[in-house]
Amino acid sequence: MTQPNLDSLVPAYVREFEPYIPSKPDPELMRLYGCKRLFRLNNNENPLGPPPGAQEVIRRFPPPQGALYPSGDSYYLRGAIGDLHGVDPDQILVGKAANEVIAFVIKAFCEQGDNIVTADKTFAVYEWVAVFSGIEARIIPLKDQGFDDAAMLAAIDDRTKILFVCNPNNPTGSYWTRERLKAFLDAVGGRRIVVVDEAYFEFVEKDDYPNGMALLGDYPNLVVFRTFSKMYGLAALRIGYLVGSPEVVDMIRRTCIVYSVNRVAQEAALAALRDDTGHIQRTRDLVRQSRAFLVGELTKMGLPVIAGEGNYLVVKIPVSDTLAYRKLMKEGVVIRPMTGFRYPNHIRITLAQQEAMEAFVAALKKILA
Ligand SMILES: *Cc1c(COP(=O)(O)O)cnc(C)c1O
Repeated sequence: MTQPNLDSLVPAYVREFEPYIPSKPDPELMRLYGCKRLFRLNNNENPLGPPPGAQEVIRRFPPPQGALYPSGDSYYLRGAIGDLHGVDPDQILVGKAANEVIAFVIKAFCEQGDNIVTADKTFAVYEWVAVFSGIEARIIPLKDQGFDDAAMLAAIDDRTKILFVCNPNNPTGSYWTRERLKAFLDAVGGRRIVVVDEAYFEFVEKDDYPNGMALLGDYPNLVVFRTFSKMYGLAALRIGYLVGSPEVVDMIRRTCIVYSVNRVAQEAALAALRDDTGHIQRTRDLVRQSRAFLVGELTKMGLPVIAGEGNYLVVKIPVSDTLAYRKLMKEGVVIRPMTGFRYPNHIRITLAQQEAMEAFVAALKKILA
């Protein structure tokens, strides 16, 4: 058999793209680094898990239903999301987590020669999907650890199709206020799509933080992302959604893969939305306490901390972040090295239960000693 000629077969923008290597499963990591237990502080997961009702759905999922296709467009879940936000269910597309939803939007609006605009130190998937689809990503440096609205507007040209804003930003925790977001939307005008990624919406406790859903009526080019992976503790089931105006969503629907969201995920997400046990409040309390504790400890150690909204913070360390990752692994603590976020010498830590925070602080002191 002759080898396929990959040079002519594969577009240059795919050949040149560096594949992302996910971390190994926990048991492999534990064997590799010789640790007996692992605190996962690298993915901003909710240490409390899913709300009790969602846990019950997962536990009691009827095994024979494993044979049945799910609702192809998450029918009942869209109904519940629509009720929650006061939007028509037809304005909602559910996907295999926010990751897939990002691809729907880029595929719907961008062709070769077009560009998207986003920040340098933010969730990298917007940039990755654009680049490996042959779309230029205009990467605007953060200003004061936040998205730089003026520089983003200045980067717009005739071929700009989408502007991605992460609010609050992962990893810096900064956010645009309602006024600032509205001013940005006004300045962009209706000729481009503005995506506001609200993956950490449910964690934010600030009064001037905007709910993107409330702006959809005034800005038909606005698309809002939410996920069940973070606050709702359903990252394993991969489920998230976007909301936009009926016209815009009708276009995105064309690039949306139906039947990609599994039945357990749909039912667990529905139960998570209906939670009445105070799961969100419990999680917020935990995150708030952990943030105060960790900011205090890291500051005492003389390390610069970047902390804002969301269930994570970033700290600057006096050694290489990738080296620190390996050394912390040996202590049973997984953190996110930030070199991949263009933040060398910084690490991101998920705000989790006190025991994990104390284990992290002790391990960090040990490796920096
Ligand atoms: C975690 C995260 C997401 C979504 O992740 P999914 O699990 O794919 O839903 C989206 N945006 C940001 C900024 C995130 O941090």
